[in-house]
Amino acid sequence: MKLLEERILSDGIAVNEHILKVDSFINHQVDPQLMQEVGNEFASHFKEKGITKVATIESSGISPAIMTALALNVPLIIMKKQPSRILTPDVYQTVVTSYTKGTNYELTLSHKYITEEDHVLIIDDFLANGEAATGAVRLIRKAHATIAGIGVLVEKSFEPGHDKLAQQGIEVYALARIAKMGEGFVDFAR
Ligand code: 5GP
Repeated sequence: MKLLEERILSDGIAVNEHILKVDSFINHQVDPQLMQEVGNEFASHFKEKGITKVATIESSGISPAIMTALALNVPLIIMKKQPSRILTPDVYQTVVTSYTKGTNYELTLSHKYITEEDHVLIIDDFLANGEAATGAVRLIRKAHATIAGIGVLVEKSFEPGHDKLAQQGIEVYALARIAKMGEGFVDFAR
């Protein structure tokens, strides 16, 4: 998506070869118009998949995910990050390692908001090692629901997330794919 690539080049900050800061338009301050374009793009790409729900992981995935859910006219479910296991029988939980913090959390989803009839589109801001996305996939599978695909704004294609998901037969649609980056530069995959 040209609009997102241009915005990354103008306002993104490549801190080093692994971390891209997008605080001014995605992660801290949010550009709603850009998120609307993003949501429309995901909705149009996945429109034939019979999606019944959009799912995301709190908190940075929420703004693109809500716009996607709005465009598809389906509910959004937000998977919660809990520091430790909840000992109640009415939630699905799985351990995920945070890319940016290096710590573990329990990704949590209530049984109430997903059924085996659901076709779920997962939306997140970044795909790097695929920890967050594969955690979301595990929760949806625990509920015996169907994974319709994964949409991410930025895929760091030099990290293993995309391949991990593709190996499981899951379609990943990334709006910007970074082949390489380093302090002060970003190269997109073509
Ligand atoms: P993964 O679980 O695929 O390793 O990493 C994805 C998660 O880590 C995303 O939900 C995102 O919040 C965070 N993340 C990974 N790489 C970056 C990055 O370069 N910049 C920012 N801002 N977040 C990232």
